[in-house]
Amino acid sequence: AKDPVRVLVTGAAGQIGYALVPMIARGIMLGPDQPVILHMLDIPPAAEALNGVKMELVDAAFPLLKGVVATTDVVEACTGVNVAVMVGGFPRKEGMERKDVMSKNVSIYKAQASALEKYAAANCKVLVVANPANTNALILKEFAPSIPEKNITCLTRLDHNRALGQISERLNIQVSDVKNVIIWGNHSSSQYPDVNHATAAGKPVRELVKDDEWLNGEFITTVQQRGAAIIKARRLSSALSAASSACDHIRDWVLGTPEGTWVSMGVYSDGSYNVPAGLIYSFPVTCKNGEWTIVQGLPIDEFSRKKMDATAEELSEEKALAYSCLS
Ligand code: NDP
Repeated sequence: AKDPVRVLVTGAAGQIGYALVPMIARGIMLGPDQPVILHMLDIPPAAEALNGVKMELVDAAFPLLKGVVATTDVVEACTGVNVAVMVGGFPRKEGMERKDVMSKNVSIYKAQASALEKYAAANCKVLVVANPANTNALILKEFAPSIPEKNITCLTRLDHNRALGQISERLNIQVSDVKNVIIWGNHSSSQYPDVNHATAAGKPVRELVKDDEWLNGEFITTVQQRGAAIIKARRLSSALSAASSACDHIRDWVLGTPEGTWVSMGVYSDGSYNVPAGLIYSFPVTCKNGEWTIVQGLPIDEFSRKKMDATAEELSEEKALAYSCLS
């Protein structure tokens, strides 16, 4: 039998956390034969709710779940973890300045980075979900210098999956037959969902859709603003789809992407596609043996270039704002 993998979920008493922990305990993140020990962290006001989640995990009697740590102590939460899914963050409240939200999150991510740096397992893989996800991940990287930078990522898989979903609906083709969309850039409304290399049942999506106006317009804005549309409909932000795509992100990273398929991940830019190095930026990647590689050599047209640069620009501004909160 395999040794259990320790998976940290921060903000575990929140709504994404509530959708995510049962998926992890059922083997959706790491595979149906991989035992797991869940480490759940939340803040003291959420401690009771967190304990309630722990009770439900016990009650669900998941065969793969070999233990649950539910704590408000960041050191206890981070100790020995192999995978860290960072969902906890300070939400933007009405009337708050961008800088105030950034400042709160910078201090949270700085503290949690230090705990991961000291107490996580060597080679721990980190996925940041909480917004501003790319920049939170960058701060985490800065303050956890012994964790390899390739191990620190942020979630844009939900945006990727949303793009697949929109194409599938439009073409009336199974979503499993659509692949190789790309989300470039920030997990924000400046992201660029790109279908120029995407296929559906093996054929180029652009040829099948035959409507460039839609693909260059409404398709993009629908994906960019899907989060807001869910909030409007549900009066709560997306949780099951966020949790599911966090599982997709880690599963593909650990177990590999299928041959001929890439996915989108927010990763530390090495300057590929002339994206400034030193940003956490979403790229198309393939994964093998637990490591991601940016897909190289895709032709980029002028329309795409502008959108890729605009989202990079926003990330550079966020980075500057985050650093100004540090000093
Ligand atoms: P959710 O579980 O709904 O969301 C958690 C985070 O994920 C938010 O930052 C949210 O950003 C982000 N997110 C990223 N992508 C998405 C997406 N596609 N859809 C929805 N959310 C997305 O929030 P809750 O408030 O229910 O739970 C947060 C938990 O974090 C609480 O249990 C709270 O106690 C904890 N927390 C921990 C802190 C800490 O560790 N110091 C500080 C504050 C809270 P966005 O806000 O933009 O929706």
